[in-house]
Amino acid sequence: MSPAARQWRPAYIGIGSNLYGPVEQVETAFGLLEKLPKSRLVARSLLYRSAPFGGVEQPDFVNAVAALETQLDARSLLEQLQHIEQSRGRERGGQRWGPRVIDLDLLVYDDVVIDEPDLTVPHPGIAERNFVLLPLREIAPELEIPGLGRVDSIAVNEEEPRISRIE
Ligand code: AMP
Repeated sequence: MSPAARQWRPAYIGIGSNLYGPVEQVETAFGLLEKLPKSRLVARSLLYRSAPFGGVEQPDFVNAVAALETQLDARSLLEQLQHIEQSRGRERGGQRWGPRVIDLDLLVYDDVVIDEPDLTVPHPGIAERNFVLLPLREIAPELEIPGLGRVDSIAVNEEEPRISRIE
């Protein structure tokens, strides 16, 4: 293994759920992120509640952001996140894949920029979605995001519904 491959690199993960006990789902996701191979969970935001928008009738979302240090490359990390989504998405007792109760997004992977059909890093949602930006700002205000600048300099989207911290 080359020395570069063993490097610990910072990565930020967006977590969201609006099904089957979203608070517990997000807590479970933190627990599973803690167990990822070649990775360590170094910070976690509080949980935030956000109203869905876009006219679709559905429950409120619970969102949070996790900070990792990882030796996985960005694509391997995405695969691990997708494994977690799949492991949490199976309908209990059912044969078929049920609704996905956990959404995990790779928001930032060090200073890396990737623009491919199946992987865009930094994630385009950061500057668009308050439920991503605000938990990220809570745990990493000074983080420099390629193409966006410091997290605490990114403006909140005033057109989106307000989000609130879950106490
Ligand atoms: P969604 O579950 O709606 O967030 O979309 C999942 C799809 O987005 C997957 O097919 C991923 O390959 C793709 N994708 C692209 N960039 C990212 C990223 N940074 N994090 C997570 N999924 C991504």
